[in-house]
Amino acid sequence: MSLTDNSRQSAQTKNSLCLAVSACLLGQKVRYDGAHKQHAFVCALQLKGVDLMPICPEVEIGLGVPRPAIHIVERSKQLMALGVDDQSLDVTQKLNHYGRAMAKQLDGIDGYIFKARSPSCGVGSSPQKRADGRTKKGSGLFAAQIMQTLPLLPVVEETGLEDRTRQINFIQQVEAHRFWREFIALQPGVKQLREFHQNSYLNLMAHGVEGLRDINHWLDALPQNGKLNKTQRQVYAKLYMCQVKRLATHRRHEIVLRHLCVRLRSYLDKTQRQVLANMLNDYSARQLSIKKAIDELRLIARGSSLAWLAQQTYLQINLSLEMEK
Ligand code: SF4
Repeated sequence: MSLTDNSRQSAQTKNSLCLAVSACLLGQKVRYDGAHKQHAFVCALQLKGVDLMPICPEVEIGLGVPRPAIHIVERSKQLMALGVDDQSLDVTQKLNHYGRAMAKQLDGIDGYIFKARSPSCGVGSSPQKRADGRTKKGSGLFAAQIMQTLPLLPVVEETGLEDRTRQINFIQQVEAHRFWREFIALQPGVKQLREFHQNSYLNLMAHGVEGLRDINHWLDALPQNGKLNKTQRQVYAKLYMCQVKRLATHRRHEIVLRHLCVRLRSYLDKTQRQVLANMLNDYSARQLSIKKAIDELRLIARGSSLAWLAQQTYLQINLSLEMEK
């Protein structure tokens, strides 16, 4: 059983999030010069119970440590991974092939943290020497294969995780991807997609009402029942993942809480309504964190018979909430 199989199985067993990560970011000495690029946030994720699957594509295709440095060069309209000092060293096919093979094995993960500027792992930041002599930025060959095969997978470079806001935003995408992956594994029809959307409603609203409206309009045009075809599934998944990429700001969470105060008014008793109103006031005044607010919503959901509220994925997210101050 491969490392990938082991990590995925353990993630499924423990019900924890599972991310792939460039191995050098986890402190493994796999860089061409024998060094590592340990990243504090990436390592901290492990301590929070996230399963991390370290992958070094250059080691996996048989280049040793240390090894000759490679870079990306355009030849005959094709991007190639060639040796910097020895241009006869060509690992283009090996990197592309390994990327395609790994993408097939990574269907149980919910995100990938790549090392920036690497000719193998970069996501839009890797220098590429073009035929006209200019140097442009693009993606590493391995990362490009992963993104092409798994277009919904949340990906980020470690340079995109330098502040708390962007860290939380990435983890929110990872959590949303997991909800989608678990749902789609059930081979749902249109009716089940509508239920999934209803259960995701507050979470999607927290990323902006405009994007949520667009998804609602698209769903309105679908038949009520029947099979969910491949195109419909892909369109919804793209809209859903694009929506959760938008920042869930304080203002947007406030809109969600305000929406709940109105929507739940007739279903709650007087005490519960007061708890909800106080929560909204405290959150608006920044005297209550969103984590505490959602903890209170969970209590309201438990103390009422509101299945709609209890099933909201907004109440099931954990890690991104823990990261909120
Ligand atoms: S950037 Fe990618 S290829 Fe380079 S050492 Fe790190 S994991 Fe290996």
